[in-house]
Amino acid sequence: MTRDFVNTIRAQFPIFAKRTDAAVYLDSAATSQKPQCVLDALLQVYSSSNGNVHRSAHRFARECTDALECARGTVAAFLNAPAPQNIIFTKGATESLNLVAQSLTSSIRAGQTILVSALEHHSNLVPWQELCTRTGAILKIIPLTSDGDLDLVELEALLDSDVAVVSVAHVSNVLGTVLPIKEIGKLVRSSSSALFVVDGAQAVAHLPVDVQDLDVDFYCFSGHKVYGPNGIGVLYGRMDILDKLPPYQFGGEMIEQVSFEHTRYNTVPYKFEAGTPDYPAAIALRSALDFLTSTGWEAILKQEQEILDLATQELSAIPDLTIYGAPHIRSGLLSFNIAGIHHFDLEVMLDRYGVAVRSGHHCAEPLVHLLGTEGTVRASFGIYTNPEDIFALSTALKKSCALLKPQHSGAA
Ligand code: PMP
Repeated sequence: MTRDFVNTIRAQFPIFAKRTDAAVYLDSAATSQKPQCVLDALLQVYSSSNGNVHRSAHRFARECTDALECARGTVAAFLNAPAPQNIIFTKGATESLNLVAQSLTSSIRAGQTILVSALEHHSNLVPWQELCTRTGAILKIIPLTSDGDLDLVELEALLDSDVAVVSVAHVSNVLGTVLPIKEIGKLVRSSSSALFVVDGAQAVAHLPVDVQDLDVDFYCFSGHKVYGPNGIGVLYGRMDILDKLPPYQFGGEMIEQVSFEHTRYNTVPYKFEAGTPDYPAAIALRSALDFLTSTGWEAILKQEQEILDLATQELSAIPDLTIYGAPHIRSGLLSFNIAGIHHFDLEVMLDRYGVAVRSGHHCAEPLVHLLGTEGTVRASFGIYTNPEDIFALSTALKKSCALLKPQHSGAA
């Protein structure tokens, strides 16, 4: 572990210095903390150049419009999208997935199939259920292997010319499983003409993403999970598909020309960005992505792998603790339960010891039921997580076990 690396990173996140209770934050999969450069960018927009984008000709509007379009370019470069126009700003991954599912309504026929995996967050499940209700399409679930991997043999068996959409997470928010997106994409392309949608909400903060290399049709993420602000998200789409797709919201700025009788839509991406976007958040998202890029993926991957390995080692030493999911392809988090202790009690107890984790079904209720439980405890990590955070977690877990389960052999 390169201590200097983590220390330098932590020094850029004011929340760690500001908290007087020295609380440990292990809930980055829910939302990440923000570096100073992101806070500065937000303040800079509101305090020195605020003006609504793409509307007025005055300097306030021009400055914000230029900064917003620069941010679009930065997101495109971050994902290696062919052009800034491939990037649509949304409120978050949820809105991005709803945009795709809603806009596809008129092109899906009754009897066609939509495939999602068994490990999806509700936001990559419910919009497709609703699309099926609207269109008469059939939702099918790609199962997992007993190890918690996506079952590629079953996927192949499900793929045929009736499949209209395949939508999967890049990284599971419950298991941390990294799905083999390239391999899945190849299967999808070879056996169907389905659109391939990937939910990157849990991926973009933890691994480099190249949408052209992955050969996806759509890819989305949320700003707030990648050290950026809340209220901003991204949808990448392939241009030939976006061109044909109808907008899903209507109003200001998504139009080219309007009369009382008829409306002609704006070009991509603007036809998908009705109303005033959260341009300060988009501009600050640019700072978050620049921060990651300048930190460098090699260093980030190395540090996060070391934290994951340390956490796995520490938690594996706690009696009766089960870690869920496949260990060989995990990223960013560990989900677990301790036999005899309710996951919620554990979360509350850990908080008493100053360690913030999340418990419950993590908005992936069907998956958690498949695991044979009502909920798990999830410790999730970020670029700033250090070994002390992990030791604090394992100490707090041991103390919690001693209180909640006095007969526990590991009680200290
Ligand atoms: N997909 C996954 C895998 C997630 O973890 C989340 C957030 N927990 C979402 C989608 C939805 O993200 P948001 O709430 O920011 O729209």
